[in-house]
Amino acid sequence: MKKEMGRYEICVICGKEWNVPKDLRLPQSGYVCPHCASKAARDRHGPR
Ligand SMILES: [Zn+2]
Repeated sequence: MKKEMGRYEICVICGKEWNVPKDLRLPQSGYVCPHCASKAARDRHGPR
């Protein structure tokens, strides 16, 4: 694994590791990757 700028965070929705900017602020609810964030914004009437 390479260590480059940024760090890894686990998305609370998909559970995958994502490379995020070092200075990214995490919300209290946890990190949500851009993919899940856009998805959640689209369908608010998800299964849960
Ligand atoms: Zn995700």
